[in-house]
Parts: sequence; structure tokens; C-alpha cells
Amino acid sequence: PDGRPRPDVLTLDEVLAADPAAHRVLTGDRPTGPLHVGHLFGTLATRVALQRHGVETIVVVADYQVIADREDAGDLPGTIREVVLDYLAAGLDPGATTIFTHSAVPAVHQLMLPFLSLVSVAELDRNPTVKAEQAASGRALSGLLLTYPVHQAADVLSVHGTLVPCGRDQLPHLELTRTIARRFNRRYGPVFEEPGALLSDAPLVLGTDGTKMGKSRGNAIELRADADATAAALRGARTDAERVITYEPERRPEVANLLLLGALAAGRTPQDLADEIGDGGAAALKRYVTDAMVAHLAPLRARRTELARDPDVVTDVLARGAARAGELADATLRTVRAAMRQTA
Ligand code: ATP
Ligand code: MG
Repeated sequence: PDGRPRPDVLTLDEVLAADPAAHRVLTGDRPTGPLHVGHLFGTLATRVALQRHGVETIVVVADYQVIADREDAGDLPGTIREVVLDYLAAGLDPGATTIFTHSAVPAVHQLMLPFLSLVSVAELDRNPTVKAEQAASGRALSGLLLTYPVHQAADVLSVHGTLVPCGRDQLPHLELTRTIARRFNRRYGPVFEEPGALLSDAPLVLGTDGTKMGKSRGNAIELRADADATAAALRGARTDAERVITYEPERRPEVANLLLLGALAAGRTPQDLADEIGDGGAAALKRYVTDAMVAHLAPLRARRTELARDPDVVTDVLARGAARAGELADATLRTVRAAMRQTA
């Protein structure tokens, strides 16, 4: 770490305009279900763009976090496979990008212990994303969910990540990661850089019910779905009672979200799309978004079907990823223990 403060939230253009190769990206997803278009436009497309520009990219499949807000992890190996197939279909190249599961890299979790000592329960209690996830789960707040942001700090800092492409819900977690890095450095000497968040043009995609699209919420348009399922999901999407389509994200969030999805899928702007549809109303908007989305996802879906035929592709990718991430995290743990004088 050179001690220079970095901005805490960046755009892809800003990263590419500066010195992209100076970054190491760490990001990830929980294997709670197959990925959806919120992931694609929120973070996956950005990861692929960074990979294309030669930025070292590391992606964690956070399998130890699945039971943070539920009792039953379901078919974890099966879900991990779905998520990794989504990555590969979206364009993550396992030759260039490291993909690993939490459970394969123990050093990450050992790092969490000293990090926990650097935060207060009051700070953890204030995290708005944790509160929202707890509320959505309908369950009591588990200790694992409460400390989830610290675990995420361990993910990022274990590989010395400097950039985290993520959705808007992750910003409080990123802030805590920066706090942990800063406090660790102050207490034990300079070891960590404070990573920045990378937000896309779609940092909060809404689902068909008008709340954040989430794998666990039954409101998602899944990447792996077919054209019929995509059309059915969009037909049922919440809109409002106004006849004419306008782009007003604050006042009409559901309509603005459909306009954004249509625009991203078709490579145009939401405003332009709203002007075109106008008094065609919600039905015309949904038809447009469905056609654009089905066309946009067709190559990804075809690649996914092809990849899914290979029974070994996912295990091979994860084995290579675990080796690379394990090396980085083991080295970080050694550095941390030396800084804390915990070595013999
Ligand atoms: P779950 O409902 O199980 O929590 P999720 O859909 O929220 O699943 P996560 O694995 O929690 O997915 O999040 C992975 C990454 O995807 C994070 O960076 C998150 O910010 C981003 N992300 C998730 N949902 C959206 C969304 N609706 N819009 C934009 N980004 C999103
Ligand atoms: Mg989530």
C-alpha cells in the first residue's frame, strides 16, 4: 500500500481511463440460486469487461454464506454448478479469471478472526443491507448474517483486492472493508489497501415485484431460463396505473426499471425507449423488453447449454481457482500473523 487514498466508488470508464492493470478485482456471489439479469447488468458484464482489459479478476462463490439467512442450503454442489455455468456463459474466462469457493480456501476464514476484533457490534448493527436481508428472510438475525460484511472483508483483503464490482446493496459492506483495512494498518503496520467499489449503470435492478431482484426472492429473470419463461416473468412484472410510458426513476421505479432493462438489452438509453413507446403503455413496454432481452441473452444461453454438456468443466475450473486463491490467501495470512507478531 502506498498510503494514497483511493476514491471509494468508481465507474468502469474511470477505471479504464486510469491504470486498469494496477488493479486486482475481487468479487463474488452466494450460491443461493442461478444468476439473474440483475447480476448480469449489475456486476457480471463489468467483470467480463475488466477481464478483457487484462485486469486480474478473482471471483468467490460464497458457499459458507448461504446459511446466513436460511436453515437449508439446498443442493449446494448443484447450485454452485449453476452459478459457475452462468459465469462461463456470460464470458468469464477461467484461463484469465480465478473462480473459487469459500470452502476450498480455509485461510480466508482464519483472517476473519482478527478482522472481527477491529469492528464493534454497534457498527455491525447499523448496516442497512444486513437489516434488509434479515427482514426479507423473515427470520431472526443470525450471528453469521450480522458478521457477513466482515467475512466479505476477509474475502476481499485475503487476495489484496483493490476493486470490487458490485451492486449498490454492497456499498455499506465495502465501506466496512475499507474501515477494517485502515484500522488494521494503523494498529499493526501497512498491509492492506483500501479497495474501491465499482458500480455499473444498473446498480440496483428491480425484480418483477418491484423490490430488488434477488435469487432468493422469487422475482428474478434467470439467465439460464428460456424465452418462454422470460416472457412469462416479464408479463407478470409490476408496473403502475398510468397509461403513458415515461422515464421517471424516482416517481415511477417499476416502469423505469423495465425501461432500463430494455435499454441495456438493446444498447440504447431508457429515455429514448420511453419516447418511442409513449402511449403504447405497459403492454407495449413489456413486449419490447421481452424481445430485446430474449435476443440479448440468446448467445449466452446457447453457450450455457453447450457448457452444461461437459460434466467436468465446473469442477476443473474450481480446482484451479482454489489453488490460485489458496496461494494468495495463505500468503496474506502469513503477512497478517507476522504483522500481529503471532508467528513463533
Ligand atoms: P440473494 O437473494 O440470495 O441474496 P442476490 O441475488 O442478492 O441473492 P448475491 O449473491 O447476494 O445475489 O449478490 C451478488 C452480487 O450481485 C453483489 O455484488 C450484488 O450487489 C449484485 N446484485 C445482486 N442483485 C442485484 C440487483 N438486483 N441489481 C444489481 N446488482 C445486484
Ligand atoms: Mg444478496
